[in-house]
Amino acid sequence: MTFNELGLEPELLRAIADQGYESPTPVQAGAIPPVLAGRDLLAGARTGTGKTAGFVLPLLQLLSAPQGRAPRALILAPTRELAAQIHESIRSYGAHKKLRSRVVFGGVGEQPQIDGLRTGCDLLVATPGRLLDLAERKLADLSQVAHFVLDEADRMLDMGFIHDIRRVIRLLPERRQNLLFSATYTPDIRQLAARLLKNPAQVEVTPPNSTVESVTQVAFRVDKAGKRDLLIHLFENGSAGEGPWYQALVFTRTKHGANRLATQLERAGIRSAAIHGNKSQSARVRALAEFKAGKVTALVATEVASRGLDIKELPQVVNYELPNVPEDYVHRIGRTARAGAEGHAVSLVSEDEIGLLRDIEKTMRQPVPFATTPRFQRRAAAG
Ligand code: AMP
Repeated sequence: MTFNELGLEPELLRAIADQGYESPTPVQAGAIPPVLAGRDLLAGARTGTGKTAGFVLPLLQLLSAPQGRAPRALILAPTRELAAQIHESIRSYGAHKKLRSRVVFGGVGEQPQIDGLRTGCDLLVATPGRLLDLAERKLADLSQVAHFVLDEADRMLDMGFIHDIRRVIRLLPERRQNLLFSATYTPDIRQLAARLLKNPAQVEVTPPNSTVESVTQVAFRVDKAGKRDLLIHLFENGSAGEGPWYQALVFTRTKHGANRLATQLERAGIRSAAIHGNKSQSARVRALAEFKAGKVTALVATEVASRGLDIKELPQVVNYELPNVPEDYVHRIGRTARAGAEGHAVSLVSEDEIGLLRDIEKTMRQPVPFATTPRFQRRAAAG
């Protein structure tokens, strides 16, 4: 299958070639033709599958040329990071077209966003809260939206956005195309899909390179008080004597825990940054950029902050604490081993987390083996 066969116009094919993509991913091959044909779509795909191009490319084609001031395509995303990344993708894929894209999200000053909307746009990417705020003050005009995308819908429901989503939908014209992307199909998602989508085309993909099978998983037993020093040991030596880690995404359960751990790692000489919901947008973007550039070795993140982050071919994911929800474990370790690279996921498991690990194994129908915990040096308690 080639991009040419999907019915995309020359301007888009050029942008795809600029990106260096050779062939469409499965979700792109499945989504682009029905979206171009104007159909609704239900897509089961998570980050890393190329889903963004799966809806951005056909929308750019359908929108054709700039028109009016009010957006004709609205894309809702759960987090600022994801919204910003979708906006960036629109710019890349639309580089040879004249369409205008805007992004609005909370946590930053609203005036530039208001000014941008006033200038006009064809596509609008938004997180629900800020969008509603602007729309209800008549600063965002949703009356021309003909294409509506809900990206990472499962995560939006997890984050409690269902009422906001319903309020947004009530502001949209009746006649429109609807696309829903979700990594999982829970009963809530099915219900939302049933209400939102009319006779949808369906695609479902499991990302070939971020499936749990391509990730080497290992767990270490360690008491809570020893986790920090074990983690430092792993950063310095690796988990199987492979040598120091140069890049690892470390998950903690809380924002406070993320901050504290990043500080402790930093004190141990490991360049670290934390990202979570309390960090300003610019701080998060900076942390991610430094991590991608290799200036930061440890990126300590909470679950929510990590969603939708475009971190490619990550060699190492660490569960400093296990998530309460088994699916979150699968999301987390799906960050590693993308694009054919080999990935490793290490979990530090204390006594009280054994039950969580068993639930995770049941969900994955796959054991997570315990390895012998390496001898690590206990440091004086600090911070
Ligand atoms: P997404 O799942 O949309 O977050 O995309 C994951 C990554 O895959 C992004 O970094 C894209 O740039 C990349 N990507 C998207 N489509 C393709 C493709 N057809 N070939 C290679 N890489 C792609």
